Parts: sequence; C-alpha cells; structure tokens
Amino acid sequence: MQEPLRSEQKEAILRSTGTVVDEAIAFLQGMIRIPTVNPPGEGYPACARYIGEQLHRLGYSVEYINLTPAELAELAPYGAGLPRTNVVGRLPGSHASPVLHFNGHMDVVPVGPGWSTNPFGGEIRNGRIFGRGASDMKGGIAAQVYAIEAIRRAGLHLQGTVEQSGVVDEESTGNRNAGTGLLVERGYITRNHTDYVVITEPLNADNICLGHRGAIWGEITTFGRQSHGSTPERGVNAIELEQPAGHTTQCERRQPLIQHHYGRDERQQRRRPLQRHLRPSFSHGRRPGSSTPRTTRLAGATSQDTTWFLLRIC
Ligand SMILES: [Zn+2]
Repeated sequence: MQEPLRSEQKEAILRSTGTVVDEAIAFLQGMIRIPTVNPPGEGYPACARYIGEQLHRLGYSVEYINLTPAELAELAPYGAGLPRTNVVGRLPGSHASPVLHFNGHMDVVPVGPGWSTNPFGGEIRNGRIFGRGASDMKGGIAAQVYAIEAIRRAGLHLQGTVEQSGVVDEESTGNRNAGTGLLVERGYITRNHTDYVVITEPLNADNICLGHRGAIWGEITTFGRQSHGSTPERGVNAIELEQPAGHTTQCERRQPLIQHHYGRDERQQRRRPLQRHLRPSFSHGRRPGSSTPRTTRLAGATSQDTTWFLLRIC
C-alpha cells in the first residue's frame, strides 16, 4: 500500500494544475475542431492521430488500433464502412504495476438545431468552451491527460504505469464494439493487466460511479394477423404489439439495475435514476396492400448499463 500524499505534495500538484490549463484548453479545442460525429463515425483516424501525437509529445509510447475489414463489418454495422481507429498511450513509472487506465471516447452525437456558435469551433465565451464534445467527452480526455501531466510537473514520480485510451463508437456501442469493447477483446484492458480503469465521462462533478451506460442494438419482430383494411377487427395489428414490448423492458429492468450498481444508496438513486429502456429508432410494418400489418420489425437500442461488464476488471 502506497503512502498517501503529503500536504506539500498536494499543494505542489494544485500549483502545477494552474500551469497546464492553457495547454489542456488548446488540446481540447483541437479535438473539438475534428468532427467525429457518430453515427456514422466520421474523422476517427484524424482524431486518434491528434490525441496520439499529443500523448507522444508528453512522453507516452503510442499505439493505434485499427480494425480488419471483417471486424469493421461486424462491429460497426451502422458505420457506413468508415474506418475506426483507437489510440492507446502508455507511460511507465518506476514500477510496471499497478496499471491505471484512463479511458475516453472521441465520438460525438450529431449536432442538433439551435447552436449560437460553430459546434466544431471550440470557441471560448465567458470562461466556457463551446462545441460538440466539449462536455461529452473530449473535455474528459483533455482532463485525464493533463491531470497526469500536472502531477508529473509537480515533481512527483509515478510509481506505476499510466495508460490513456481514446476510443471510437461509445455513442453507438453495440453488443460488441469497435472501441473499448475491442480493447478488452484484444487484451489492452484485462483483469490480469489492468488494475484500475477511470472513465472520465461527464456526470455530476461530485459523482463517482461504478459502471457506464451503453447500448445494445437489436430488432424485435412482432407477429400479428393480417386482415383487410375495412375489417381491422378481424386481424391483429403487428405495430400495436410493439408498445408493450418497450414498456415491459423498461419496467422489469429498472429496479434491479439500480440496486446492483449502487446498492441502496437512496441519495444516489434520486440524483440519477438509472433506466434501461427500449429506445425504438425505426419501425417498419410490412403491409401488403391496405391490410392490417401482419409483421413488423422494431429496431432500436437498450440504453444504460449494458457495457459495464466489459469494464469490470477488478
Ligand atoms: Zn459520453
């Protein structure tokens, strides 16, 4: 067990933090200016390279993890064939272990309406940075990189290894995944190798959570009974069968998940109630003529807490 930090060391780190802020901001602005919108997953190689080059300048050994064409087709079926590149930086300390792995995703969700600034401009206004991903979560990547840098510049020597990863496809996740999931599958993050993982996702500033929300994509096919459009009462409309499926999924899953991750911490639950729910994104009823739909497919995603098991390594 390492000794806790002495008060003068903590003060040195706080002083050092002030000296890295400008660099962290510039690093973040550079990331925001690379649109990595997912879906479909644009600009990943450029953003991975940008993060990797910065890590290299800070003394990390850097590795880029790409997908084979077969992996791309399987792990990013909604990715329009665009390349997926993850980056991992490794900074050894005086001992190989423990290994502390910081993880952040570089993809951002599409831009909605109503922006008063360029969403990919990284503009600073009234002490805040504006841009898609400033919060979720290129800001987290900048923070995790420069938190370590502040410690080093305070003159403290790392006792173990620090790793930093910038990954793709967190926003789309999937049953398997081209980002963090791939790092787990390929052994970059494993129970034997990795002692701790810190994911710098934005939440409340004073919250530390176990787990990470995710999504599993799937299709549900409902089967009704076809009838003529003038006599719908003789059939069963497959589209109408979709709603109970989503409702059931939400109700059955919600409470057990809350207790599993957070025990019975009422305060935590009130603040951020967890839900797993079906989020339909597309519905397609097969309608021969004007008849009542006999079958329909509901494509969507369950959100929340489906990737946590990939990351639970200790
Ligand atoms: Zn996020």
